[in-house]
Amino acid sequence: MEAQQFREFGRAAVDLLADYVENIRDREVLPSVEPGYLLDILPQEAPEQPEEWQEIINDFKETVLPGMSSPVCTELEVLTMNWLGKLIGLPEEFLNCSSGPGGGVIQGSASEATLVGLLVAKEKTVRKLMKLNPDLDEDEIKPKLVAYTSDQCNSSVEKAGLLGSMKMRLLKADSNARLRGETLKQAFEEDRAQGLIPCYVIANLGTTGTCAFDALNEIGPVCKEADVWLHIDAAYAGAAFMCPEYRHLMKGVEYADSFDVNAHKWMPVSFDCSAMWVKNGYDLINTFDVQRIYLDDVQTDIKIPDYRHWQMPLGRRFRSLKLWMVMRIYGAEGLRNLVRTQISLAQHFANLVRADDRFLVEPEPSMGLVCFRLKDGDNINKKLLKNLTNKKKVYMVAGSFRERYIIRFVVCSRLTNKEDVEYSWNEIKTEADLLSQEKI
Ligand code: PLP
Repeated sequence: MEAQQFREFGRAAVDLLADYVENIRDREVLPSVEPGYLLDILPQEAPEQPEEWQEIINDFKETVLPGMSSPVCTELEVLTMNWLGKLIGLPEEFLNCSSGPGGGVIQGSASEATLVGLLVAKEKTVRKLMKLNPDLDEDEIKPKLVAYTSDQCNSSVEKAGLLGSMKMRLLKADSNARLRGETLKQAFEEDRAQGLIPCYVIANLGTTGTCAFDALNEIGPVCKEADVWLHIDAAYAGAAFMCPEYRHLMKGVEYADSFDVNAHKWMPVSFDCSAMWVKNGYDLINTFDVQRIYLDDVQTDIKIPDYRHWQMPLGRRFRSLKLWMVMRIYGAEGLRNLVRTQISLAQHFANLVRADDRFLVEPEPSMGLVCFRLKDGDNINKKLLKNLTNKKKVYMVAGSFRERYIIRFVVCSRLTNKEDVEYSWNEIKTEADLLSQEKI
């Protein structure tokens, strides 16, 4: 959307809000809609082409406003999570529109989604073991439960272990920074031999450091055999699955119990909007449903979910509204184009780096991320990044790959264009030239 259009859209939105407030006393305090009303009138798929903002505002008035207060908040979330789930090619079982108990929920962050998964896995495992052996006590089981992920995981994954009081093992990834099935299997065996109980696995599709993809098709069967909850953290790279050409990287997704992608990361949705799907919503309800005094009059219908049982807080924001608007403004094609454009800009940057034989691109660029370094040792690369940061023209963050210091360049904004990439490379090259002169 161009700036002028955005201004017009913004003004129309403010007018609508002001009218709402001005006329609020004319409105009834409860909506007069039947459960499921919105799902019956809105399309079941995201539009392929971008839509006009005038049409969206109009639909907002005619379809969303009449359901204001809770029904519309729930139903638009169900609908948009079906749209997005279909768009990224998730198996049908994860979708609310399938015949099973799966569905999507919008969490505030990928960190929350990982923690929710951990708490559900814990509860499910405790219940299963107590059913198998009624003499066992919950307090005996809980300290023995173990979670697993790779040593490349995001810090939020480790934090979920801390918050959920579960030992989190960071298993060694292979030389390409991927967690392999055999490593996981061995870890399960080691722990079982010590009387511990494998409970939760977090597979990373797009690690923070190098955007590596764990071998999901190996990890999945190991989890299935051990009956261990498998959560997929695709916080950043999950958006790429909107493009069919990248879906091979999520081969094995059918083994997962939960999957999370941040729409607030690589999709142009403002923070916060983390899309999480589960294969069985009852697992969440059985974990988080605490029936108390004034809250116990609502029945659980998995098709119109009572989302307070799918998350940590009780109250919730109307996050699906922005997801709905973004998906309509861009259309599926526009969203796929964003991903493709940013990947091709990253490739362009990688080619510029490769053409300079003082530099190495390593590992291979993945999605919008290009990791590179000067061929000399780590110190010169540290100095290069420090000088660039001080100049405040380009901002990059370091990482490590095969125990070498790397500089990470990422294209992640819808505004980035070829000139920006070339400008950035020019800054890097000029700084490298200065460093070479210093050496002489
Ligand atoms: N997982 C991965 C792979 C990430 O890259 C990040 C953030 O960079 C997170 C999880 C945490 O995301 P959030 O800030 O939504 O909790």
